[in-house]
Amino acid sequence: MVQVDAIKAFDDNYIWVIKDPTSSSCWVVDPGDEKPVLDYLNQQNLTLEGILVTHHHWDHTDGIAPLLTSFPHLPVYGPKNGKYQGITRPLVEHDTITLAGITLKVIATPGHTLDHICYVNNEVAFTGDTLFNAGCGRLFEGTPEQMWHSFNKLLSLPNSCQVYCTHEYTLANLAFAHAVDPNNLALTEYHQQAQKLRQGGRSTIPTTIGQQKAINPFARAAKADILTYTPIEFISNDSTPEAHFAALRKWKDNF
Ligand SMILES: [Zn+2]
Repeated sequence: MVQVDAIKAFDDNYIWVIKDPTSSSCWVVDPGDEKPVLDYLNQQNLTLEGILVTHHHWDHTDGIAPLLTSFPHLPVYGPKNGKYQGITRPLVEHDTITLAGITLKVIATPGHTLDHICYVNNEVAFTGDTLFNAGCGRLFEGTPEQMWHSFNKLLSLPNSCQVYCTHEYTLANLAFAHAVDPNNLALTEYHQQAQKLRQGGRSTIPTTIGQQKAINPFARAAKADILTYTPIEFISNDSTPEAHFAALRKWKDNF
């Protein structure tokens, strides 16, 4: 069983820590800032053994070079041919890495950026800025078709799989989800639950794949009636899941 801890960074980022329960070793995912990572390692008395990167954005990578000053020989896993130059263990789809007694598979998830990868197995998924709790990453580089395809790779994981995304955007995402899908009871119930968690200063992450299928409008884009409440200006003539996904993403960008 994998152990995952959260380190908070910036306003709403999580740097995920994968801990080895049998030793003091740990790995971090997307360290955008070194300071909270160093504080965490000191407090927990843990040794950093490696860094995993999902994509090139600064808030996922800016802490890497400073961390390498303290730990010069750390492997830095990340996308092959991505824009971030500091990857020392380049990865492509279907590669696997074993750490902390678990094996993670790499899946290519272009959409938010073209270099985006996720690290997954049947128990956990580190989804970066691709799949968020109740939402999805903005399409800075890829197309809606690419992102929908990437989403489907994640949605094919077991319902019980725990999803660790990088941002605590959940309440804002839920407000949009409610506008898309106002009659979804599971969504209404979860919205109340998430509000309570946030009011208590608690995280809404991890979520699960099963929960995302129930509440995330982007994960539900294949539903024939998902655009019932979407303003007409965002809708195309096409009725494919990809076109639904594109309409929802356009609306969210203007929400
Ligand atoms: Zn990003």
